[in-house]
Amino acid sequence: MHEGAIAQSVVEVLRDIKNQNQLLSITSATLKVGAISGVMIDALEFAFEAIKKEEDFIKDAKLNIINVSVKAKCNICDKIYEFDNTDDLVMMCPICQMPLSIISGKELEIIDVEGE
Ligand SMILES: [Zn+2]
Repeated sequence: MHEGAIAQSVVEVLRDIKNQNQLLSITSATLKVGAISGVMIDALEFAFEAIKKEEDFIKDAKLNIINVSVKAKCNICDKIYEFDNTDDLVMMCPICQMPLSIISGKELEIIDVEGE
């Protein structure tokens, strides 16, 4: 996905939250971004900073990004594997040789917003 478009949709969600809560501005937003969500965090931050220059209500907003590691579970032995680095990602249980199910790491969600 294109990070510019993602940043824009985040800003639109923040605008809705601001309007619904009759806030003047958004001061911080916290995003959960999974390691295999396909989003490049650097690019997302860069795009958000660019939009901040054009949107007064987020000009002082701080973007916090929580990086969610990948967790995958074996459906046979129930063992959960965690991968901090996508380079280490394996899709097979080393014990059972069966495909793993991804249980986290694909997230892209706004979990907290503060404003005034
Ligand atoms: Zn297994």
